[in-house]
Amino acid sequence: MTQLPRTIVIVGAGFSGAVVAANLLRLSYWRPVHVVLVERARRMARGAAYAETPHPYLLNVPAGRMSVNSRAPLEFLKFAQQRLPTTTAEDFLPRSLYGEYLESSLLDAELSSPSHVRLVRMQGDVRSIERTGGTSPFRLQLDDGRTLTADDVVLALGNPPPGRLPGTEALLGSPRYVEDPWSSPPQLQAGETMLVIGTGLSMADTVIAGTDTAQDKVVFHAISRHGLVPPSQTAFRHAGCEGDSSALLRAASFSARRLVRSVRELTEDVQRRGGDWREAVTCVRNLAPALWQRLPTRERRRFLRHVRPYWDIHRHRLPQQTLAKLEQLRRQDSLHVHAGRIVSFELVGAGVRVSWRPRGTDEVRTLLVNRVINCTGADYNPTRSRDPLMRSLLTQGLAAPDGLGLGLRTGTHGALIDSRGRAANNLYYIGPMLRADHWECTAAQELRGHAERLAHHLATPAVKPMFAVQRA
Ligand SMILES: Cc1cc2nc3c(=O)[nH]c(=O)nc-3n(C[C@H](O)[C@H](O)[C@H](O)COP(=O)(O)OP(=O)(O)OC[C@H]3O[C@@H](n4cnc5c(N)ncnc54)[C@H](O)[C@@H]3O)c2cc1C
Repeated sequence: MTQLPRTIVIVGAGFSGAVVAANLLRLSYWRPVHVVLVERARRMARGAAYAETPHPYLLNVPAGRMSVNSRAPLEFLKFAQQRLPTTTAEDFLPRSLYGEYLESSLLDAELSSPSHVRLVRMQGDVRSIERTGGTSPFRLQLDDGRTLTADDVVLALGNPPPGRLPGTEALLGSPRYVEDPWSSPPQLQAGETMLVIGTGLSMADTVIAGTDTAQDKVVFHAISRHGLVPPSQTAFRHAGCEGDSSALLRAASFSARRLVRSVRELTEDVQRRGGDWREAVTCVRNLAPALWQRLPTRERRRFLRHVRPYWDIHRHRLPQQTLAKLEQLRRQDSLHVHAGRIVSFELVGAGVRVSWRPRGTDEVRTLLVNRVINCTGADYNPTRSRDPLMRSLLTQGLAAPDGLGLGLRTGTHGALIDSRGRAANNLYYIGPMLRADHWECTAAQELRGHAERLAHHLATPAVKPMFAVQRA
């Protein structure tokens, strides 16, 4: 008797979806398996980060640390060297080249998969998912009327757009306001003045691309509450943290304040031994999920309120050449970085009048700019999502937001926890919203680990109940 294939549908074929699929295709199963990748964009295995763009945006991680395969840590480097033979492990390469690598890695996995394991690529936008109660547990509805049934569903939906900024209502729909620079990159013209809201990695990308296209004749003002610009990466070799630092960090993880003190001590210790502070950050980052899971909710709140901007700025760093270019623009008065809060926006003639208050003062200043660009980054709070699929999952109770606005509640292997606190055994989430439970989970390195573990879990035969009880 021929066996019906098991259908695993992956919604979203950006980084996470493509890497889960590639891993699933390499594993073996006792029955035929169809891996269905559904992607709303024209190209698979790209996502927002690694799409083809007119500007050659750079990866913010060196080539030697961007493999999608933990068993072949230099795979991306070797791929890049076939095109650019002089590339070294420390080079920062274009993100679109990384997109090519993701595409090729998915294709390799597809071509070498066993005959009873098939990849089905579908272009489409999934609008809702519901439990059927039938032999195939899920039905997926696409925007064009097509439906799909699935035994298992993996949601790999990516970064949501930035949140709506207070006071921008009057700017919505105006060519003077760019609400999401990744979905509609600003077309800047020479002689214009821009206000960029945010001073992190997206600000850096926007300013560098803008100055390149408008040939340095644009003036940027960038503002964030602390006015912190990320430091640069360096070519340090991470040797792991000395002795009992991991035990010390774990011991401090009942309090945000104690954790900060321990991280400072660890950093000073690394520097005393002639190392680079980035080594300490890498060490903490590797332990972040365990530390975050031990931190009580009250302390997580404290961390988010008081520590987050400082952690983010040291954790998410810039390629050296990007920082050098930003510093040059600051010296030329083409980039001004401010610490403060926006008070209001007002459309005036061909521009926007922005009132803002410098940090620590009551004074209100104004800036007249041609355009405002929102570079505050993704808004991970699912309750604010305008995405139909996310709304449908929350309305049905199939997914539940965490209490801190960081993402979705998940259990082992990213099993979605429903509104009644139960972890599903055939509905999974992978992507940046795992931060609710893991804190560090946006970079390729972390997502690769989640993708490999999820694929192995899906390939392991087991008789499972529909739900596993999860503690609240
Ligand atoms: C601009 C940028 C640069 C980055 N640079 C680096 C870097 O240099 N190094 C690093 O380690 N990390 C980097 N990251 C972080 C990390 O690699 C990305 O966040 C990663 O791409 C996330 O993968 P993802 O699959 O979750 O999301 P994405 O790769 O964005 O994929 C999500 C996909 O799901 C699709 N989708 C969503 N909803 C639906 C639906 N309902 N139906 C069908 N399809 C849907 C989307 O179209 C998209 O293609 C960067 C992130 C960004 C945003």
